Amino acid sequence: MFKIRNYINGELKAPISGNYIDNYEPAKAEVYSLIPRSDEADLAKAVEAAEAAFPIWSRTPREVRSEYLLKISQRIEERLDELAKAESRDNGKPLTLATNVDIPRAAKNFRFFSSAIVHYESQSHYMEEGAINYTLRSPIGIAACISPWNLPLYLFSWKIAPAIAAGNCVIAKPSEITPMTAYLLSEICVEVGLPAGVLNILHGYGHEIGNAMISHKSIPMISFTGGTATGRQIASIAAPQFKKMSLELGGKNAALIFDDCDYDRMLKTTVRSAFANQGQICLCSSRILVQKGIYDKFKKDFVEGVKALKVGDPNSKDTNQGALVSKPHFEKVLSYIELAKEEGGKILTGGKAKDLSSEGLNGWFIEPTIIEGLDQNCRTNQEEIFGPVVSIQAFDTEEEGLRLANSTDYGLASVVWTENLSRAQRLAESLHSGICWINCWLVRDLRTPFGGVKQSGLGREGGFEVLDFFTEPKNVCIQYPREY
Ligand code: NAD
Repeated sequence: MFKIRNYINGELKAPISGNYIDNYEPAKAEVYSLIPRSDEADLAKAVEAAEAAFPIWSRTPREVRSEYLLKISQRIEERLDELAKAESRDNGKPLTLATNVDIPRAAKNFRFFSSAIVHYESQSHYMEEGAINYTLRSPIGIAACISPWNLPLYLFSWKIAPAIAAGNCVIAKPSEITPMTAYLLSEICVEVGLPAGVLNILHGYGHEIGNAMISHKSIPMISFTGGTATGRQIASIAAPQFKKMSLELGGKNAALIFDDCDYDRMLKTTVRSAFANQGQICLCSSRILVQKGIYDKFKKDFVEGVKALKVGDPNSKDTNQGALVSKPHFEKVLSYIELAKEEGGKILTGGKAKDLSSEGLNGWFIEPTIIEGLDQNCRTNQEEIFGPVVSIQAFDTEEEGLRLANSTDYGLASVVWTENLSRAQRLAESLHSGICWINCWLVRDLRTPFGGVKQSGLGREGGFEVLDFFTEPKNVCIQYPREY
């Protein structure tokens, strides 16, 4: 069986303990490779490598660092098909999605930060009494970058690229549920000759190697994307050590649909925003709020559109919905469907697992599910399910829609569908979310800050803001006594 290796000090290495974890193919529910179960001994080697590399990498001209990022981006593009297949097999997502979205976006992340770092500027302030203040922005040291399983290479690269572009060294850990594209990235780093120790990738469990990384005294900054409960645990360890933290956490996002929207565009996009990647995108709309005038029509058309989604083999071109990522996650999502029924919800479509065993697929498939009749305060509407399950509800006035949309502890993303410009502006200002899409969804400009409010996180990724996170500002003030 294929054994994934860690990437430490520029080399691919087996875990020192010799211990491995099973890696499953979600569509088949079969183990198909093994993942290093890394521990403190592997971390010590990675820290040693990163500490040795930092003094040189941090002083390497940014143009040179930029070149390495560009080469990585180009190599991802060259190996796109292989990476997409690996990601689809590892994660259960449709191959078309991995090919058209995930992997190209990972390449773009490296490309964007290869350019951003050469255009990144710091500030200076002139004082009339004869002094200049300028802000030195220096790389900090070693960054821990920890990412989840839903967009494995895309989210992994979104942290690693700015961290190393800014001159830091990185110890990164992908999710133990989807390790394969991170492994292929380490092969790419070897191929492009990234200097040893600049990036180190350790595989293994979050509560073991992940916990060791965020607790390590030599690692002063943590960039984490994952669940809110994990983020809370990480913060409880990192905050007393005053580590820099960026936490991108869960969501329970509302789509707010008004009578006056561009109906056909809205319908098509809402099917996608609810169920893309089996609903396993932190930005997916899981609470769909529809104004009364179009509610009945929307309900009928939405159910029809969702019923037409084909759940099937992730490798087939016509598959819209692949497998859920793991057995525990599959069971969790099904348990929420049961909970929704107990809470008085009516299943309009879906509501159960999809049996594809006749096609040789014994994995974790669930029919896309729409639920009606739930109060916004119930657990189904308050807790993140992170699967192909959405609730729909009617509202009357703009104020009521806003109140319902804002009625969770999360605040990652929101979507508004209206042709009324004033209403769109008012809602963009009043919705409690870090991102607000008006008449669209998942349109991303890498220059903009990305992240959530409330329990959806702390800090921002993307753009120059993330380069600020990965550098330390120091104000330098020079006074020059005026002689004339
Ligand atoms: P998770 O929190 O279980 O795991 C995320 C990562 O953290 C994994 O690599 C895991 O091994 C590691 N980890 C777990 N416990 C740890 C610990 N104690 N110390 C250090 N590392 C630890 O999340 P998941 O199930 O992989 O991903 C799904 C979650 O991610 C959802 O809540 C989703 O909303 C969220 N997410 C958020 C964003 C965002 O940008 N806000 C993007 C994607 C996913």
